[in-house]
Amino acid sequence: MNSSDDIRGRLVLDDRVAAGRIRVQDGHIVAVDLDERGGEAGGEGDRALPFVTPGFVDVHVHGWGGHDAMGSPQELDGMAQALLAHGVTSFLPTAVSSPVEELGAFADRVRRWMPAHPADGARPLGFNLEGPFLAQARRGAHNPLFLRDPADVDTAALEPLLDGLRVTTIAPELPGALELIGWMHGRGVVVSLGHSGTDLATARAGYAAGARTTTHLFNAMTGVDHRAPGLAVAGLVNDEAFVELIADGHHVDVALWPIITRTKPSARLLLVSDPLALAGAGDGRMTIGGLEVDVRDGKCTLVESGALAGSVIALDTAVRNLVRSGVDLPAAVEAASRNPLRLLGIEDRGRVAVGQAADLVELDDDLRVARVMRDGRWYAGSR
Ligand SMILES: [Zn+2]
Repeated sequence: MNSSDDIRGRLVLDDRVAAGRIRVQDGHIVAVDLDERGGEAGGEGDRALPFVTPGFVDVHVHGWGGHDAMGSPQELDGMAQALLAHGVTSFLPTAVSSPVEELGAFADRVRRWMPAHPADGARPLGFNLEGPFLAQARRGAHNPLFLRDPADVDTAALEPLLDGLRVTTIAPELPGALELIGWMHGRGVVVSLGHSGTDLATARAGYAAGARTTTHLFNAMTGVDHRAPGLAVAGLVNDEAFVELIADGHHVDVALWPIITRTKPSARLLLVSDPLALAGAGDGRMTIGGLEVDVRDGKCTLVESGALAGSVIALDTAVRNLVRSGVDLPAAVEAASRNPLRLLGIEDRGRVAVGQAADLVELDDDLRVARVMRDGRWYAGSR
C-alpha cells in the first residue's frame, strides 16, 4: 500500500458527483483534482470508475457480525472490524436499556478499549446509551424491568456515565425528563427523543429543553395521526432537529420515505442501522438485554411479541436503499457520513475535500463496498 497513491473515481462531493482524483498523504486528503471539463460525471469513460465517498458513520449500532457492543473488548474488536468492511469508518457502540451499574461497566469497557481499538476496524467516537429513560408503552425490544423514570434517579448516579457519552435517548413525557434533557445537553451529551408516547406539545418541549435528534423516526413513538400528531411530527417539522432513519424497508415502509426526505433539510437526516449482534451473522436466535430475539429473512424480531428488534443491515445497504428510492447519491451519502458527524460536532472528516481525514469508501456501480480507506490505509470491503 502506498499512501500517496492517487485515488481516481467518480467523487461524491457535497452536492454533486464529479470524475477526478484524490491525493492522500499522512492520513489526510491533500488534493482533490476534478477532470478538465468541470468534472460532471456521466461520460462513457466515467462508468468504469468507482464511486468514492466519505466513510460512513453509524451513531446507533448495538452489534454486528455476531459481536455485541455490550460484550468483551474482543467483541468490540470484532464488531468494529465487521463494520469497517461495510464502509463504516467511525461508530458509537450502543447499549440497550440495562441497570445503571451495568451501563457503567459498559462505559468503562468502551473507554478502556477506545485507545486500543484495531486499526482495521471502525473508529469509536465514544458511545451511545439507548435508555434506560424510555416509556414502557413504547419500549420496543428494551427489557421493561430496566426502564426508569428520570425523577427516580439522582443525577449523581449518572455522573460516572458522562465521560465518552455522546448520545442518549430519553422519552420527554417521563417525570423529570425535561430537566434531565437540559442536564445532559448542558454536559455536552446529544439527547435524542424516542421510545416515547408523548403528545406534540411535550415533544416540542423536549427539543426546546435541548434535545437535538430523534431515535429511529416513526418506530416506537407517536406518529402522524392527523388529529393527534406526536413525536414524529415534532421531529419532522423542526428544521433544527435531526432524525434517524433505519432504511431497511421494514422499520419504515419505503412509501413514507419521501415524507421524510422532502420535509427534512438534507443536513438533518441520519441513516442508522440499529442492528443487534446477530446482524451479518445469518439467521438465528440470541438473547439481548434478557429478551430472546430471532433473525429470519432479513427481519429481527422479539420471539415473545413479534415486535421488530432492530435491523440486520449496515449503512452501505442503507445508502443503496435510499438511492434506489430516488434520493440522489450525494444526499444519501451525506446522511451516512457528514450528518452524523455534524450531530457530534466533528468537522475534520466526513467530506471529500482538502484537509479532511482520509476516511473513504470505494463503491462499485451497484453501490457495493469494494474497498474502505481509514486514516489513509485501504482495507477490503464486503462486496
Ligand atoms: Zn430503539
